[in-house]
Amino acid sequence: MPPVFRFAPSPNGLLHLGHAYSALLNLDRARETGGRLLLRIEDIDATRCRPEYEAAIDEDLTWLGIAWETPVRRQSEHLSDYRAALEKLSALGLVYPAFESRAGIALLVAAREADGPWPRDPDGAPLYPGDAKWLPLGERDRLIASGAPYALRLDMAAACRRVAGLGWNELGEGPDGQRGAVPARPEAWGDVILARKETPTSYHLSVVVDDALQDVSEVVRGQDLFHATSVHRLLQVLLDLPEPAYRHHRLICDEMGRKLSKSGRSTGLRELRVAGANPAGIRRLVGLG
Ligand code: GLU
Repeated sequence: MPPVFRFAPSPNGLLHLGHAYSALLNLDRARETGGRLLLRIEDIDATRCRPEYEAAIDEDLTWLGIAWETPVRRQSEHLSDYRAALEKLSALGLVYPAFESRAGIALLVAAREADGPWPRDPDGAPLYPGDAKWLPLGERDRLIASGAPYALRLDMAAACRRVAGLGWNELGEGPDGQRGAVPARPEAWGDVILARKETPTSYHLSVVVDDALQDVSEVVRGQDLFHATSVHRLLQVLLDLPEPAYRHHRLICDEMGRKLSKSGRSTGLRELRVAGANPAGIRRLVGLG
């Protein structure tokens, strides 16, 4: 079977040089290995994703000389796949509803920090500080029946008890030079959100379900997702999904050394194109020569 690669942008803004680098690396790997290249549209967040951004992704990638297989998988069209995975995790007793709002969580963290620093995840966000895991079942049912909003969280401690020796094969490089056999540390993320009342999935859940359903064999993506791979490996083992290889790549930064954002003007592919750049020039700009 030929290797399978995917570029998986979220249509919540215009692509910039960082996306171009990631997409071109996927293209080059597919060419080098005689592999297949897929485009996946990660449009779960209905509040931020827009069809016009998806159209812009198609246009910008085509301009760069990138072709992909069709049909394109659009996550919003496959919610039942994610729901099935969530039900499997629930049946293992690893999912619980948590009813705190974002503001409520911030208050809980502030209260815990009165006694010293509260742990943060690898992205710098405080770990879930609440006690929803221990809510009596009757109380859970009562809150759900009352229509209260909730997030479905993974019971990380229980999940980690079910797996041993978790890790992955890093073909690229982590932010601290990690390569080869990397041990996974999903516990560093605490009880991550797997879904919400209105949305039966989260980034972590849909990415592992899709990579498996699409037979992705090598995940080529930015180092900003290196630590999230620990959660992805845990979910793959819990859901009995195959393990891809991972190739995390350096991030393209602005002149201040900051990771590019979708709103950053001067590094947008559109702006560069309008200013006269050509695809070979974009390759050179991202260091692909
Ligand atoms: N959709 C994610 C993003 O745009 C990428 C997901 C992935 O490559 O795993 O950052």
